[in-house]
Amino acid sequence: MRSSRSAKIVATLGPSSSTEAQIRSLFEAGADVFRLNFSHGSRAEHAARVRIIRKIEQEVERKIGVLLDLQGPKLRIGTLVEGKIDLSAGDRWRLDMDPTPGDAKRAPLLHPEIFAAVNAGTTLLVDDGKIRLRVDRAETHFIEITVLVGGPVSDQKGVNVPGVVLPIGALTTKDRQDLSFGLQLEVDWVALSFVQRPQDIEEARTLIAERAWIMAKLEKPSAIEHLGAIVELSDGIMVARGDLGVEMPLEQVPQLQRRIVRLCRSLGKPVVIATQMLESMIASPMPTRAEVSDVATAVYEGVDAVMLSAESAVGTFSAQAVGMMDRIIASVERDPAYRSGLEAIYSSRDITVPGAICSAMQRVVELLAAAVIVTYTSSGSTGLRAASERPAAPILGMTPSLPVARRLALVWGVHAVLAPMVRDVREIVSHACHAACEEGLARTGDYVTILAGLPFGSGNTNLLHVARITD
Ligand code: PEP
Repeated sequence: MRSSRSAKIVATLGPSSSTEAQIRSLFEAGADVFRLNFSHGSRAEHAARVRIIRKIEQEVERKIGVLLDLQGPKLRIGTLVEGKIDLSAGDRWRLDMDPTPGDAKRAPLLHPEIFAAVNAGTTLLVDDGKIRLRVDRAETHFIEITVLVGGPVSDQKGVNVPGVVLPIGALTTKDRQDLSFGLQLEVDWVALSFVQRPQDIEEARTLIAERAWIMAKLEKPSAIEHLGAIVELSDGIMVARGDLGVEMPLEQVPQLQRRIVRLCRSLGKPVVIATQMLESMIASPMPTRAEVSDVATAVYEGVDAVMLSAESAVGTFSAQAVGMMDRIIASVERDPAYRSGLEAIYSSRDITVPGAICSAMQRVVELLAAAVIVTYTSSGSTGLRAASERPAAPILGMTPSLPVARRLALVWGVHAVLAPMVRDVREIVSHACHAACEEGLARTGDYVTILAGLPFGSGNTNLLHVARITD
């Protein structure tokens, strides 16, 4: 069972999408990767979701990616009585270190570093900037505030302090515990929130090693300052527009998105666009025209994946939101202007043997109208390289590694399947042709373009072979 799209869909799981039937309906609607947002929910809930995903994966015989999104040093309000309160402009509120659920008078904000860094007059933003608070008094264990712009605040809503540099590291104690739990669950990708410096990725790499691919979420001005190094060190990037649009002027988000996507594409790093893509579908069965256009724009830019957050996690129309995304992507990918736009964006700067092989692959696919590109990949790198060219033919990523097959579920154009270890080129060609036909990607008379790295497992793409399917 293969997706007919090249761009992928990441769907966040939450209270609206936790039962087997709900997760199955998201998969059937088009989700390729499921995101576990460790800012919300218990470890037991996340583990139960992973068990369901793996059960569905076995039944549908398609590899499904699981992305663990660590909370990171995100500042959040604690829990609230009845899960929610309404704040109005002019209300006085107190935020303190007491973990008791909050109410209209006070609420927990268990981040002493905020209390140390703010002063009377500092602005705090809650829930992606929707609620605006002004600090009136700051003490070491509490702050008193006045509500400038009110609205509903629910449990664990994020707090941003724009313009104030908070002395906090990349991985909190909770992140380290969540990470070790997630690695036991064999998640495929780990997303790091609030990355500020290249060292944040290096620190995570030391902890994660080869057990998952690392996705840096770009949402802080300091990450943008170190963009090149962060992209180089990461396995993938998420344009986390929610916090990015709070930490930086909102009107700069579109240009930052374009800049990040182009850089990722030129370096062959998978890139995901996140947040508010179909926001109105949290409560409506139909998105707005502007949202549809936003998803389409990301797809035209050649992103690897578009992501749903609250739409699939807490929305009333979670499966419909995935289905809508699926239809938008399919529609863009049918547009003849899509391919010409993709080619105009990408230009290879990879003057290496793998880069040259992948460029040659493009030419072979074009001249022979090859039906499929088969990448024999054990580390995943040959699959990634082929995908970075955004070729016109689908990519069948054959790998002996189950984790690699699952990680590739997020990558543009790649349909990954498990393959036996091979000993020589003859075996690769025979497996590649057989698998291409089995997966419905080629039939008699079709050309199959095969890419691999010799010796196998070297991660060094250096073989390009063209085969023709015979009876
Ligand atoms: C974002 O800020 O856009 C984002 C994806 O992060 P989170 O949902 O974890 O706040």
